[in-house]
Amino acid sequence: MSHTSAPEAVEPAETAETAEPVTVLGLGAMGTALAGAFLTAGHPTTVWNRSAAKAEPLAVRGAVPAATPGEAVAASALLVACVLDYAALREVLTGHEAALAGRTLVNLTSGSPEQAREFAEWAAGIGLGYLDGAIMITPPGIGGPDAMLLYSGDRAALARHRGTLAALGDPVDLGPDAGVAGLYDAALLGLMWSALSGWLHAAALVGADGVPAADFTPVANRWLAGAVTGFVSRYAAQVDTGRYPGDDASLDVHRAAMAHLLHAGHARGLDNALPELLAAQVDRAIAAGHGADSYARLVEVIGK
Ligand code: NAP
Repeated sequence: MSHTSAPEAVEPAETAETAEPVTVLGLGAMGTALAGAFLTAGHPTTVWNRSAAKAEPLAVRGAVPAATPGEAVAASALLVACVLDYAALREVLTGHEAALAGRTLVNLTSGSPEQAREFAEWAAGIGLGYLDGAIMITPPGIGGPDAMLLYSGDRAALARHRGTLAALGDPVDLGPDAGVAGLYDAALLGLMWSALSGWLHAAALVGADGVPAADFTPVANRWLAGAVTGFVSRYAAQVDTGRYPGDDASLDVHRAAMAHLLHAGHARGLDNALPELLAAQVDRAIAAGHGADSYARLVEVIGK
């Protein structure tokens, strides 16, 4: 190979000179973790919090504390916000509309899809690029291998800042409707709470007979990660097509097995509200004549 040929273009390493500057507004548990991940990735990071003392540990790590929201906004083209709720963020940004124009706001504050769409309209009205986001991990996981962040809204902004946002976790693009990240967030949290409460009921059941949760849980995780994940993947097509062939296990069969769970829980004095709710939904589907259908039929009981 010739030593005189033109060098190939290479991506510059993320150093303090080349990494994109970013401002983090809100330094609660989550905002602190976000700012910390940007610092770790070498981004010049400006931080602001209502209670200024929370900026101090980040300043020790090299962040630049801003005295006011206006100063924080002026410091970077990319603004990442994570405060309690959308009302608090509007309070923080109100009065800085002119300075916000032409910048990009990534709002990682939790909110409803409706709030996100309203915020996006407000941002568009002042010429602020707006990306709504949902963080699907707790603060210690930020920047780690299990961190997934959902984004929807200004897709060009996501493409432009993807490398910077990747410092927080894997960025998932959910399209141009700013409300979709919040919609997925609510849906996924509901899924998590149902799964956690199902596992806790199971742990209480086996625990009543002296089985430690630590012994039961590896078997439970294997069941969830293998068989149950497979059921969900298969049933997605049934939900989308509205056809629910019960060729793997019918609702009649599920209902008979549920009777064993209800009996076992009752015999051990457990709060059986969760399996009773599930049995009631199955009973409604069976009463409507769908006993031969698969479990996915319940989506129509719930509200399709
Ligand atoms: P947190 O520790 O309670 O922090 C709340 C932050 O909001 C603080 O910076 C607080 O400022 C600020 N704040 C509250 N009201 C304000 C107002 N009126 N004006 C200005 N700032 C205000 O909560 P967090 O855990 O960081 O959560 C922040 C957001 O991230 C929430 O929307 C939450 O749902 C979301 N989130 C959290 C997690 C998690 O696991 N923690 C996961 C996903 C999403 P002060 O310090 O001055 O009080």
